[in-house]
Order: sequence, then structure tokens, then C-alpha cells
Amino acid sequence: MKIHEFQAKAILAKYGIPVPRGGTATTPDEAAKAAADLSYPVVVKAQIHAGGRGKGGGVKLAKNKSELEQHARAIIGMNLVTHQTGPQGRRVKTVLIEQGVDIAKELYLAVLLDRSTARLVMMASAAGGMDIEEVAAHTPEKIVKAQIDPTVGLADYQARQLGFGIGLSATEVKAFAPLAKSLYAAYVAEDLSLAEINPLVITKDAKAIALDAKLNIDDNALYRHEASRALRDTDEEDPLEVEASNAGLNYIKLDGNVGCMVNGAGLAMATMDIIQLAGAAPANFLDVGGGASQETVSKAFGIILKDPNVKAILINIFGGIVRCDRVANGVIAAAKGLSIKLPIVIRLAGTNAKEAGELLASSGLAFKVATDLKQAAAKITEALKA
Ligand code: GDP
Ligand code: MN
Repeated sequence: MKIHEFQAKAILAKYGIPVPRGGTATTPDEAAKAAADLSYPVVVKAQIHAGGRGKGGGVKLAKNKSELEQHARAIIGMNLVTHQTGPQGRRVKTVLIEQGVDIAKELYLAVLLDRSTARLVMMASAAGGMDIEEVAAHTPEKIVKAQIDPTVGLADYQARQLGFGIGLSATEVKAFAPLAKSLYAAYVAEDLSLAEINPLVITKDAKAIALDAKLNIDDNALYRHEASRALRDTDEEDPLEVEASNAGLNYIKLDGNVGCMVNGAGLAMATMDIIQLAGAAPANFLDVGGGASQETVSKAFGIILKDPNVKAILINIFGGIVRCDRVANGVIAAAKGLSIKLPIVIRLAGTNAKEAGELLASSGLAFKVATDLKQAAAKITEALKA
């Protein structure tokens, strides 16, 4: 789960990480109030679940009250386009008004999981700020890493090595190392899946401050973090994904035109691969789960159809625990109920597949029945051409 910068900073502050003073606002009036106990310059920052806000015009420095009001008016309600939002951009509802900071150095500091070693890794770079992606792509040697032993945690010497490794002075390392340790502590205690401070700034008087913060929380651990669950902002999520998660479906929107309904995440991924191989592109990933009922199937259909890009539907169900005839009944009921006009290719295999085939054939609906995956993919590309 993604959260906003201001929420991430509140979490980091709990672990002793210095963050600028500030507050949020949803109107220019509130912005002026939030700036009342700060001294100029202040920074106006768009709060959306995407990075690259600085370059997109969502982070502005205000030297006085009239600039503050001008930036707040411009940013609140703007459609902010960054390299992470896609061309459609994201509407800004909230801004963070913060005390401006006198920056000497902009560093990068992050904790993430390295799946190849199954360990957390802390990464630091002296080339922090708005171009870290370029640094990683073209000058990866500028990123220093520390592998963390889970039984020990981030050791003091590792935190210092990272600091010296990115060229900090001894005084600067004294400010940097405790912050690095706190970031690791926050990552573990809050069950994060990503923690990134970019930039972590060193001020002219050698203090370390988190000027930006991006924390992702592991969805599988949310059950044990009530306070974190309350930070969810569904306005920042795809509306169809929100509807699907409320219905207990695993749905991820993609940008192709073949709506997919599959049971099991592995089969869903294989289905997406086969569709691509046949020259088409999936509109979504959708795992209806092992025990899909008629209602689940119906709900899933509804969600697939709400995506205007969908031009054909592929249903691929393997009947293990779920019986194919039940799925067929669900599909028939949903197709009739929602009066679906799009071509539907259906492949059912496993328990009661034969009965399912008979139900589909006698339903009076024009399903295109496929007997295997390859044929299903071929029928989909055919249907798209028609
Ligand atoms: P992002 O572009 O979404 O990652 O947003 P950031 O919070 O990282 O802000 C982008 C850039 O704005 C930073 O890299 C800084 O250069 C600049 N910035 C942010 N806050 C301040 C501040 O308090 N003072 C100054 N001078 N610059 C700031
Ligand atoms: Mn940033």
C-alpha cells in the first residue's frame, strides 16, 4: 500500500528521523494558516502517490505570503503529470506546506528487499534529488549498498561505511548514521516493503533532514497495523481496483484490450503470457480465486466490462476445488444479466468440464469454446479482428 509523503514523514518522525516542520492544506486559505508558524521561504508540495512531482511542477518554493498563495492556488486542484502518473496525470487534493531548508547536499537513502539474496539492502548515494533514476541507469557505481543480516540489523559500522562511502565528512556522518539506523528500524517495525528518502539533505550546519519520504507498506502485514490501514487513500487508486478489492478479487488493470477472468494467480500469469504470444494484449490481471462462486464470477464480469478498453473476454478456468459446471452457470447467468455484447472465449478444464461444455452449448449464448490455452488465445486474436 502506498501512502502520502506527509503520512510517511509522520511515521519517520516517530522513529526519530528529523523532518521539516509543516502541515497540510486543501485550500489556499488553509495553506496560509499552515504557513503562519513557519518562516519564509516555505515549500508547497503536491501530495499524490507518485514521484517526480518536482519536475512536473508540483513542488514550489515561496519566498513570501503572496507567492505562497499563488503556488497553493496553482497546485491545489491541478492535474499533475509526472513520469510516474502516466499521461493522464493525477488530481491534487492536498498540499504539504513546509519550512524551507538551506540545502548543502542532496543525498539518496533507501531500504528495499533484495530478492536474490533474500535480505534487506540499504542503498545510499551522494547524487540524490530529482535524477536518481538516471544515476542508477548510467553511473551505478555512485550507489553504495549494505546487505543487512536480519539477526543483527543494520550495524553501526555499516551505517558509517555508507556515509563515508558517499563522501560525507566525519561531522556529516555523525548526523547521517543514526538516521540510517532509524530508517532501518522503521522499515522492520512498520512492515514496509519500500522506504526511500530522496533527498535526504545535509544542511549548511551539517544536520541531516528527510526532505522527501516514500514508504510502501506490505499489504500482507496490514492486518497487524491498524494505524497504517487508516492511511489508505482510495482516491489515489484505480477505481476498478478498489471495487475489486472490496469484492475480494485480485484485479490489476493493464493497458491491453482482452479482459481476462482466470482462477489462480499462476494460471492468470500464464494466460497473460499466452495472449501476448498470440499477438494480443491483456486488459487486466484477474484472479477470481480457487473457490469462485456464481456471485464472484458475476462481480468479476461487471468489473471487466467497466473498462472501456475491453474488446473481447477470455475466461480460463481450471476446475480443481471449483467445479466447471458451477463456473459455467455463473458465466451464463452473468452474461445474460449484464447483456454482454463482446465476444467471449471460454476454456474450462478439470472437474465437470464436460457438463460445463454442455451447459454453455445449450445456453443460447454465442460463447466461443476452446479446448486448450493455445486455441483460446488464437480464438481471442480472431475475435479481435472480426
Ligand atoms: P519529488 O520530485 O516528487 O521527488 O519531490 P521532492 O520532495 O523530492 O522535491 C523535489 C525537489 O524540490 C528536491 O529534490 C529539492 O531540490 C526541492 N526542495 C524540496 N524541499 C525543499 C526545501 O525546503 N528547500 C529547497 N531549497 N528545495 C527544496
Ligand atoms: Mn523526491
